[in-house]
This record gives sequence, structure tokens and C-alpha cells, in this order.
Amino acid sequence: MKFYHFLFLLILMSITIVVGQNMCNIERDMEYATTGDVKGMADKDTLKDTIGETDDRMMPELMDEAMSHLGKRYSYGGKGPKTFDCSGFTSYVFRQLYGTEIGHSSSEQYARHSPIKRSDMQPGDLVFFTSPRSGRQVGHVGIVVDYDTSTTDFRFIHASINEGIKISKSTDYYYDRRFVGVRRVSDTLSIAMVGDIMMGTTFPSMMLPDNEGADLFKDASPLLVDADLAVGNLEGVLCDGGKSTKGTGPNSYAFRTPTSYAPLLKQAGFDYLGQANNHANDFGKEGIESTERCLSEQGILFSGIEGRTESAVIERKGKKIGLCAFGHNSYTLKHVEMETVGRIVDNLAKECDIVVVSVHGGAEGRTQSHLPMGSETFLGENRGSLRELAHFCVEHGADVIYGHGPHVVRCLEVYKGRFIAYSLGNFCTPYNVSLTGISGYAPLIEIEIDSQGRFLSGQIHPMIQERGIGPRHDKTGRVVQQIKQLSDEDVPQSEAVVWPDGQIRMK
Ligand SMILES: [Zn+2]
Repeated sequence: MKFYHFLFLLILMSITIVVGQNMCNIERDMEYATTGDVKGMADKDTLKDTIGETDDRMMPELMDEAMSHLGKRYSYGGKGPKTFDCSGFTSYVFRQLYGTEIGHSSSEQYARHSPIKRSDMQPGDLVFFTSPRSGRQVGHVGIVVDYDTSTTDFRFIHASINEGIKISKSTDYYYDRRFVGVRRVSDTLSIAMVGDIMMGTTFPSMMLPDNEGADLFKDASPLLVDADLAVGNLEGVLCDGGKSTKGTGPNSYAFRTPTSYAPLLKQAGFDYLGQANNHANDFGKEGIESTERCLSEQGILFSGIEGRTESAVIERKGKKIGLCAFGHNSYTLKHVEMETVGRIVDNLAKECDIVVVSVHGGAEGRTQSHLPMGSETFLGENRGSLRELAHFCVEHGADVIYGHGPHVVRCLEVYKGRFIAYSLGNFCTPYNVSLTGISGYAPLIEIEIDSQGRFLSGQIHPMIQERGIGPRHDKTGRVVQQIKQLSDEDVPQSEAVVWPDGQIRMK
């Protein structure tokens, strides 16, 4: 029924167009109207057929969501789901699908998303127009429904002031002359990752940063907050009491951060922190329970202690991301037990679209920058065979692996399209961890992956630590040079390469 109504409407509009224009435009618009009529249809199944020809996995869901609102009324400032204005409608549709906000006005959506040539347009792209109210600025937005490559005509679904949610054509005179451009809301995910975090300790003596730690993450937080997902390694516990499991001497190296510091992690932008490391049990069960309580209160996910939380799942842009962490200590989920690793990664790969693995392993110290072949032993402990482990995780469905533990950085590799950082070193360890020379390097790595978890590109943001301060931008970019050199030397077979400016690109 809608099909015939729409056809009728089209004919009516074509007539209006022809009548309402000067000679030069008549010719052009008649041409448009003719081609438009051929594919002028609003039937949902027909739409699906058209859309099915384009290469985009999520578009059918997006169209289902958008079309489910056809006929709903327009209201100024309407954010849905009962009434909408134009940007309220596009925001609502993408929020249902991605869980993220694409922008509060049409001009904001236009400014925020990637410009696309009209000839490269796809269903699901945003199309922008001026409106009588906005003058020459962007004032109206819709979502492309289908597109004719030969004519570059398209149809779009939008909230129109007079008719509510409807499908219109780019060839309508009203929209044709107001068309501004196309933008694409990408379905890639950005993941920011860092190494060890221990914000300060009250044990064995008070070693806490100024201003109650409020400045620790000031350089890092814009990057962490901006990423779709931000992860790190929590090297220590958030706890105010408890008893050290590592003795009380000056070299006991038990880390206890006040519970009042927990909100700093949230404000910094972290979504997930691995607990599988050699400091998570510094204050026994009380320390672990307190840490988990603090992180839960902040809405930060965690995992890695054996017999407790085995893995975590978070949703971003409509994708389920599974996270897990492995360490080398008896109380952690152990990466030397390949069966355990395989089982946990398998389960996450089954349940989720993307799997991210945190690994605490490898020998420690300034002489341990190179990634060896085979397994590593440190202080009499088996610290894992990290190459083998990382590749094993990829074979089992892991998409991103971020390592830490050596307290220095190591190489980066892309293996079978998946990103591996073998060690990110220290990140925010203002006290009780050496920050001399390369130990002070604190990279923040941000990568883009596609919706299947394949590595697309990355950027190393060089930072450096000073005692008591936390990570700060390092204009010299020393850590980039080091990661580049280590990657060139230790994983020459990597599918990606580190550039001198910190970009990570496929070869
Ligand atoms: Zn450690």
C-alpha cells in the first residue's frame, strides 16, 4: 500500500518540480524525475534488496531501526521515540545501533563525521541540507536509504517538519537545491591501551602525588576518554587496610593505593583494567575485594584473578567486546596454562564480536626490551613464551593483545591482521617503580580496528613519566623511536610497520 502511495506522491512531486522552475532546471529535473521514478519505492522488502547489494554488514539493522519509525510525528527538539526533529531522529537511530551519541544538532553531526564524496555514498550515510531557518549553514539531516551510482541520486529517511518521518528523494527540488554534503558514521572501533598503573602507595610509607592525584592523567585523559575503549593494567590494589603479603621491609614492593583514588581511573577514561599481575594480591583477599568493590563503584570492568571474575564484556557501537587478563602468578589466571587461555578466549570469541586480551609476562628491567624467542624465566619463575602465547590467542579468536610486565616497552606486531603490543611498559607509576631512562617511557597506543577486529591503523602517543607526576606528553617522541627499532628488529615478519612519527600502518 505504501508502495502505491509513494508512487502517486512521486508523480505529484515531479509535476510540481516541472511547473515550479525555469527552463534550464526543468530539463535537469525531468531527467532526475525519470530515473527517480524507476526506483521510486518505499516498500521495506524492496529496500532491503537494494541495500543488500552494497557491502555493509550493519546497514540492514540500521534500516530496520530507521524504517520502524516511518510516519511518526515531527516535533522541534524531539529526541524520540515518539516524536523527532531531524537530528533527534538520526541520533536516536544510531544510538539504538551503536550505543553512542553522534551529535546533538545537524551542524554538529556534519562537523563530527567523515566527509564522503557524493559518488562514494552508501546506505546509512548521513546527508545534509540547508534549511530556511539555517540560511547557508547546515540545518537538516537525514539517512541515505539507497543510492543510484549512475545518476548519484539518492533517497533518504528523515524527520520532515510537515510530514514527520518519511522518505524523500534527492531529486525533489526542495532538497536538490539545499543539498550540502555527505558524512559517514564509521563502524570502526578505537581502542586506547596503556601498561602499568599504580597511582601512589600508602605502603610501606606514604608516597602519594600532589593534589590527591588529580593531575596524574591530565595529558592522557583526553585520549583515553575519546577512544571507544580504554584499557590498562592495574598494578596494585585499591585498599585502605589489609596486611601486606610481601613483608614490611623497605624493599617489600607491596603497592596499596587509597580507595579515594578510584574515581581518578574513571575520570581518566578507563573502561577495563586487568588484575592478572604480580601486585594484585599484595594485600591478600581483603585487597582484592576492596579493589573490585572500588572498580565496580566506578563502573570499570576488571578480570584476571583465578576463581573470581574470569572475563568481562562491554558493548560499544553495537559490538560486544570481550576482555580477559592473564598473569604469571599462582593467584592469577595463568598464561602458562594454555588450556585455560584457550578456554577463556574461545568462550569470549563465541559470545563477542571483538576479544581483547591483557597479558602480564616476560622478564623485568632495562635489559629486557627485546622480545626473546621461546620462554622467559625471571626470579625463578616461568614468565611465559610471549610470542607463542600471543599467536595462540589470535588463533583462538583474540583481536587485540596488550602486554606489560617488563616495566619497559617492547615491539609491536600485527599477526594475521590482529594487533599485539608485547609490552607497553610503565604508564602511571609515580612512585616505587624506577623511572630512569627507558623505564620512564609511557606510551599510550591508540588503534582503529574494523567491526571484525582486524587492525586498520594505529598511533603511538609518546609520553614520559617523572617521579610523582604521572605521564606527560613527550615532544621528543623517544618512545616511538624505541618501539620502532624494537619492532623492526624483533618482529620483521609483522604485517604492520611503525613510522617515525608514531603511526602504525599496514605494510
Ligand atoms: Zn608487574
